[in-house]
Amino acid sequence: MANIIDGKIISSKIKNQIKDKVAEFYNKYNRQIKLAVVLVGDDPASQVYVKNKIKACEFVGIQSLSFSLPKESSFEQVSDCVKALAVDTSVDGILVQLPLPKGIDEEAILRLIPANKDVDGFLAENLGNLSMNKPSTVACTPFGVMKMLEETGVSIKGKNAVVVGRSNIVGKPMSMLLLNADCTVTVCHSKTNDLKTICKNADILVAAIGKPKFITADMVKEGAIVIDVGINRTENGLVGDVDFDNVKEIASYITPVPGGVGPMTIAMLMYNTYNCALRRQNEF
Ligand code: NDP
Repeated sequence: MANIIDGKIISSKIKNQIKDKVAEFYNKYNRQIKLAVVLVGDDPASQVYVKNKIKACEFVGIQSLSFSLPKESSFEQVSDCVKALAVDTSVDGILVQLPLPKGIDEEAILRLIPANKDVDGFLAENLGNLSMNKPSTVACTPFGVMKMLEETGVSIKGKNAVVVGRSNIVGKPMSMLLLNADCTVTVCHSKTNDLKTICKNADILVAAIGKPKFITADMVKEGAIVIDVGINRTENGLVGDVDFDNVKEIASYITPVPGGVGPMTIAMLMYNTYNCALRRQNEF
């Protein structure tokens, strides 16, 4: 039976550390760190995410500025909002909650965020630096996964890591982080042949697919570390991409959903915002 990697406990530890750092920052520079959060439309899941991010800001002492734009907003209205935040020297980080309503070019909006305020680590500059193993702001979710792996105390160097999913915000940065940590990485996607055999060879298996209970026990190697990034809303509540009840009997470590990667994402957002503020402070 697997050990549960508890995202609530680890994220709470990280948030407490950041709270101390944010207080030190205030004492040293005599200003509050500011995160601007832009929400367009009324998607209920996005509203919950934004609410939780703002709550975390309050906890660590980061000032959050919340911008809610109606779902009918034009590209120009959203871009004007982001452009104003980009040049506002008092703003340390800008987060545009995705997805944006259909018809608004997400990439074009994200490109308006200066790299030094990109707290989500989604910009090409940050992803590029990550791929070159240079200092960068790392996308919060995969960054949180690395912290969870660290917490297990297991050395991951040289291990076979399989990432299922290749999105720019989870799968790709996840695979780069694991590669930078000296894992041997395989990235799978919807066109992968014989996914089961590849997964079965994984010492570390990260599922970032978006399909409830997709990773079943017969796809998992005995003793593997299984990380479930998936968040799927079903009739039975939130469910991950991993068939938790059966896989936990085979894995050595496993993350639950909810209470796994989700809270880590928010903790790492706080970490990234603090770091952006520190870096910007030293640029002045
Ligand atoms: P995307 O939809 O952007 O990417 C899903 C990936 O899964 C794609 O690369 C896709 O392949 C792959 N995939 C889909 N079907 C299969 C299949 N049958 N076999 C193998 N691969 C498949 O999702 P995201 O990366 O944005 O998110 C993934 C999951 O993580 C979602 O459930 C999302 O809600 C959750 N999430 C959780 C976060 C958290 O904080 N815990 C944060 C962000 C996301 P292809 O590229 O070929 O289409």
